[in-house]
Amino acid sequence: MKFSIALISGDGIGPEVTAWAVAALEKSVRSSGCSFDFIPLKAGGAAIDETGSPLPLETLETAKQCGAVLLGAMGGPKWDKGQVRPEQGLLALRSGLGVFANLRPAALLPPLRSACPLKPEISGAGGAAGFDMLIVRELTGGIYFGAHGRERIARDGGETETAAFDTERYSSGEIERILRVGYSCAGSRRKKLCIVDKANVLESSRLWREVGERVSKDYPDIETSYLYVDNAAMQLIRAPVQFDVIVTSNLFGDILSDEASVLTGSIGMLPSASLAGVPRSGGADGGTGGAHILGLYEPIHGSAPDIAGQDSANPLAAILSAAMALRYSFNMEKEARAIEAAVTAVLDAGLRTKDIASRDGDSGNERIVGTKEMGEAVLAALE
Ligand code: NAD
Repeated sequence: MKFSIALISGDGIGPEVTAWAVAALEKSVRSSGCSFDFIPLKAGGAAIDETGSPLPLETLETAKQCGAVLLGAMGGPKWDKGQVRPEQGLLALRSGLGVFANLRPAALLPPLRSACPLKPEISGAGGAAGFDMLIVRELTGGIYFGAHGRERIARDGGETETAAFDTERYSSGEIERILRVGYSCAGSRRKKLCIVDKANVLESSRLWREVGERVSKDYPDIETSYLYVDNAAMQLIRAPVQFDVIVTSNLFGDILSDEASVLTGSIGMLPSASLAGVPRSGGADGGTGGAHILGLYEPIHGSAPDIAGQDSANPLAAILSAAMALRYSFNMEKEARAIEAAVTAVLDAGLRTKDIASRDGDSGNERIVGTKEMGEAVLAALE
């Protein structure tokens, strides 16, 4: 069987890291009877240079026809001052594909314990297992998409002044579908789900809780809890091991997932998946239970113009994003795990790009390598 993957390498380090994600995908399915057809497409700065648009219509239409979209990163100083910006292409791509569920795993991998800024007794590094959480962020609703604008309002004394507003608005359907993504993921993890909101103040959050209480009844084997977002921000630093799956709104998820990412040691390690449907928990090994779901897979980092073209970008976030594509869009859990195991193996062997070098002066068996050597090592470890 042959699947199509839209390949948007993008700008800066995007092409350098996605090349290794492509190679890992190809190698991972060698003995499965499947293969991938990668369709190169332009978006972001590269597309502005070529077509004037950060998301040419042809890119979106072709991407929609593919089984998955693999993205590097978009943006860079070259386009920062223009009217048309690469990041507009990214937002248009996400909403054009309808990918409403953003999954960001944040785990402390044992070989990277010394790259975590938390004390070992807090990160869990001192014990048997470090923290391992999945943040599920609603991606196409809420305050980023609600009504916003400016208006003149009356001030005491008869004068007027400018006011600005943004609107947090969620329908029960939008909340239910993102919660079901969270429950599905929790079902193949440690069976704990925490809904993060601000229900002591916000009406929209109170609707999140109402829907949460109803939907949670369909998942009796999963422990549901609720946290206010301010408390959640503290708990992530104070005791991250308590979390399994966190489900939250677009705005809260944006902030909390960046906070969680820094705990893992480097932005160069973190993959993400944005899905257009609810994955069906495939039992013990997760996956989609056979259903195909269109997804956009990308490392969470940007185009890192400061290191582009220097063979020093960490390709692991892009490679781990490829593993997520296998898991969620192609129902290939075994192959996804093989890629993840290969990444752990090269880290165990001591290979480090600069961003994940040990910070505590204890470099042990570490050896600093470039993008190419790291990518080659992952491929070699991928049986
Ligand atoms: P960035 O993530 O590109 O870089 C932040 C820092 O992390 C830099 O020091 C960079 O060298 C380092 N870094 C990032 N990825 C790395 C990797 N794989 N290996 C090693 N080090 C890595 O964020 P920024 O500097 O704020 O943004 C640069 C450009 O990327 C901007 O134009 C921004 O708009 C864009 N951006 C795009 C996306 C996306 O496409 N999804 C996301 C964030 C930023």
